[in-house]
Amino acid sequence: MMKKQFMVIGLGRFGSSLTRTLIENGHEVLAVDKNEQLVQEMASIATHALQADCTDESVLRELGASNFSHAIVAIGDDLQASILTTLLLKDMKVPKVTAKARNEMHGNVLTKIGADNVIYPERDMGIRLGNQLSSDNLIDYIELSPEYNLAEILAPPAMNGLSLKDLNIRAKYGCTIMAIKTGQSINVSPNAEDAIHTGDILLIIGSYDDIRDLESDYGRP
Ligand code: ATP
Repeated sequence: MMKKQFMVIGLGRFGSSLTRTLIENGHEVLAVDKNEQLVQEMASIATHALQADCTDESVLRELGASNFSHAIVAIGDDLQASILTTLLLKDMKVPKVTAKARNEMHGNVLTKIGADNVIYPERDMGIRLGNQLSSDNLIDYIELSPEYNLAEILAPPAMNGLSLKDLNIRAKYGCTIMAIKTGQSINVSPNAEDAIHTGDILLIIGSYDDIRDLESDYGRP
């Protein structure tokens, strides 16, 4: 994996856990917050941790913001600071700016001023948990786009012994089984003859509705 350099602005619960994870994955992180105490807490974790107010353009220049290929603005409550920081980073031609939004309106503004990626952690975790709790078979899923998900589903007994051809999932439900996990082994490009067994884990791409229809037809595991 290529080592990347990130700048994380705002070291609340989100920014600090993001910083830890990037470091654990072998990347370099310049972690910045205007709150000195939070900076101290990150000092032994981040590559560099600095106390600064990022709504000041000259401060961002001093920090060398334009040298980073990716900056993450993890400021939540202070809308003005979040928006101004994002705007300055894009003005300074930082190639990729990801900004955290509290709500849709905040997110729309961030997109308009040039944020490359807007995230809504609380909203998305709520959706994710809601979907997981609503389904008996769903283990996890990743939203690929607003329409398509990659879901991990526990194969229900009603599928036991059936091949992908027998199930005919793509034609019936519009979903595609990308991989079948059996214990520790994984079949990443299953062909039509491959059979599914109770307890297998299926990796499926499809819309949330299509995956739910498939699950409800085959019942509980
Ligand atoms: P979380 O949910 O991640 O805990 P939050 O959404 O409640 O955070 P805030 O606490 O408002 O977000 O902001 C996160 C951090 O951003 C705070 O520690 C705050 O000090 C920092 N911050 C706010 N404005 C600036 C700024 N202008 N420059 C640098 N850091 C800032």
